[in-house]
Amino acid sequence: MDRSAEIKQRIGLLGGTFDPVHNGHLAVADHVLQGLGLDAIWFIPAAQPPHKTGHVDGSGISGFSHRLAMLERVTAAYKSYMVSDIEAKRASPSYSIDTIRILISRIGTQADLFFIIGVDAFLEIATWKRYEELPTLVSFVIITRPGYAPDKVGDVISRNFIGYEFNASDCSWSAPHNRGSFILQDMEPVPVSSTEIRRKVRLGQDITGLVPQAVQSYIKNHGLYI
Ligand code: ATP
Repeated sequence: MDRSAEIKQRIGLLGGTFDPVHNGHLAVADHVLQGLGLDAIWFIPAAQPPHKTGHVDGSGISGFSHRLAMLERVTAAYKSYMVSDIEAKRASPSYSIDTIRILISRIGTQADLFFIIGVDAFLEIATWKRYEELPTLVSFVIITRPGYAPDKVGDVISRNFIGYEFNASDCSWSAPHNRGSFILQDMEPVPVSSTEIRRKVRLGQDITGLVPQAVQSYIKNHGLYI
């Protein structure tokens, strides 16, 4: 019997605003791909981020087509990276629970899904729509980020998700009954944010080294963030 058909793909989902995609995002993707031995990472830009009507710095969010185009230029160089425009096709805000359910309805149960999220975003998880259902569909991979305390992650899990126990050997939390785990991954800090990049561009400062060259050119050619 050919058992190869039974091997499940392990896919990482990295959602975000990506305004713009930067070297921190790429470091996260590479760290998780290698660290967990995933088959692919799907970048999923939010069309209408539910937690951001505009950016905290007061600027408006760039059009979806610009954010998608920057991601496509960057990921084209990597065979394990893919960009999904699934959230563009919905009129409502881009809630992760809806996106994941739609993805599963398309790919079936042929994949194990790993929802990748920075500590900063994970600490806000209790504000997400139907967040309690998420571990029934995915495992979480929570990435350390400079400026955000990873020691609060355990509190957030025990306050909001029932039945999880900590495993010190791999810094994860697991629960019985086929629910996904929460895996805390310590990453070499990459102190870059989209906010900082937008600010630098606005001030006419150099962003070399913070974003891939293709993104730097795209921002310049389309006059973004000025
Ligand atoms: P902004 O500064 O506009 O809020 P951002 O830099 O946080 O944007 P997002 O697109 O909102 O970028 O982030 C998508 C995901 O990537 C989030 O889960 C976020 O926590 C994570 N992330 C972004 N940058 C880093 C980084 N430098 N280190 C670790 N995680 C990161």
